[in-house]
Amino acid sequence: MRCVITAASMPRVAPTGPRFDNRGVPELPEVETIRRDLAPLVIGRRIAGVEVDAGTLRLLAGAPLEAVRAALVGRTIRSLGRRGKYLLFELDDGHWFVAHLRMTGRLVWRPTDAPPEPFERARIRFEGGHDLRWSDVRKFGTWQICAAPEEAVGRLGPEPIDTGLSAAAFCRILEGRRAPVKAVLLDQRRVAGLGNIYVDEALFAARIRPDTPAGELSRAAMLRLYRACREVLERGIAHRGASFSDYVDGQGNAGAQHLYVQVFRRTGRPCYACGTPIARAIVGGRATHFCPRCQRPARRPRRTRPGGEHGDAG
Ligand SMILES: [Zn+2]
Repeated sequence: MRCVITAASMPRVAPTGPRFDNRGVPELPEVETIRRDLAPLVIGRRIAGVEVDAGTLRLLAGAPLEAVRAALVGRTIRSLGRRGKYLLFELDDGHWFVAHLRMTGRLVWRPTDAPPEPFERARIRFEGGHDLRWSDVRKFGTWQICAAPEEAVGRLGPEPIDTGLSAAAFCRILEGRRAPVKAVLLDQRRVAGLGNIYVDEALFAARIRPDTPAGELSRAAMLRLYRACREVLERGIAHRGASFSDYVDGQGNAGAQHLYVQVFRRTGRPCYACGTPIARAIVGGRATHFCPRCQRPARRPRRTRPGGEHGDAG
């Protein structure tokens, strides 16, 4: 199956890496908070208009604005779901409007006569006098119209908070992998929804060094990490997301999770558990925050063999 409105060019990928990692971009808890805020507001409402700023047509990833407008105007929102970091609006003709906030996207509910949002780029007007306002400082967010959500999210791995993801299945995701455990957790095809904030927090909660090859973790460490991933995401949702920089909820309000982090963006400040200054390193190309004392290297000696492709790490 293909997207009904296809991208004419390769989708732009929001930049990641040390320069950008400290922004704290929306991850599963932030997107889920927005979903929960917006669902009761948009479900059952009919779309009256779609406006996209001429300088932001990249938002549509190559699809013509008129086609997106034709797909949305007159449609009623049937449901609002989420998968990983994607918002999934089900339309009453069976198609789906799929939005991804990427780095700095915001989606807030406003009366139509309210003044424009800062960096507002697009608007979905609803009958009855309200809009969804799309703001995006860096303009990496994306909209898609799809015949089925799998077109946008079909390659995503399970989510740590899926009731269907057992501890055993989680361990299988890590087993045998030579990549740093942080890189495996950030790979949305293996596990969906975690980004730089919550991976650093989960690894601290599980007392695991972020650069440990995933397959070298003991079974006990993997199980600690399984529980930690679920806990940090659930806490993030309970605190309505982390507002380090651009994230706001569906009403435009900041979340509170950034006030509760243990390591993320705390470089040089004392670890809450042991007092050691939090360290920052680059792991898998990403800025990484950890406690050098609480998160010691794995005890198991690494097997390094010349040309070590066949080492039985894990
Ligand atoms: Zn510590």
